[in-house]
Amino acid sequence: MPQFDMILISPEAAARADVLEHTAGTPVREGGGDETYRCGACKTKLMINVAHHDAHGVVVKCGKCGKINTEPHHHHH
Ligand SMILES: [Zn+2]
Repeated sequence: MPQFDMILISPEAAARADVLEHTAGTPVREGGGDETYRCGACKTKLMINVAHHDAHGVVVKCGKCGKINTEPHHHHH
C-alpha cells in the first residue's frame, strides 16, 4: 500500500482552508482505500488506508507536533 509524507504549509496559508484537527493516536480519516498519509514533520500517520479522493485537498493540523499538512498532490492515475 502506498504511503506518502504530506506537505507542510504555514498557518497563514491554511487560514482560508477547512482544517481538520488531528488527535494524536487517532487518524482523522481511516478506511475506504489503500493510501496512508503521514505528517511531513513528525511522520505521525494522519490518514490511514484512505481512498485518494478522500485525501485530495485535505488540510490537517497534526495533533502531535502542531504542524499543518496538506495532501502532496501526487498523480498516479
Ligand atoms: Zn506532526
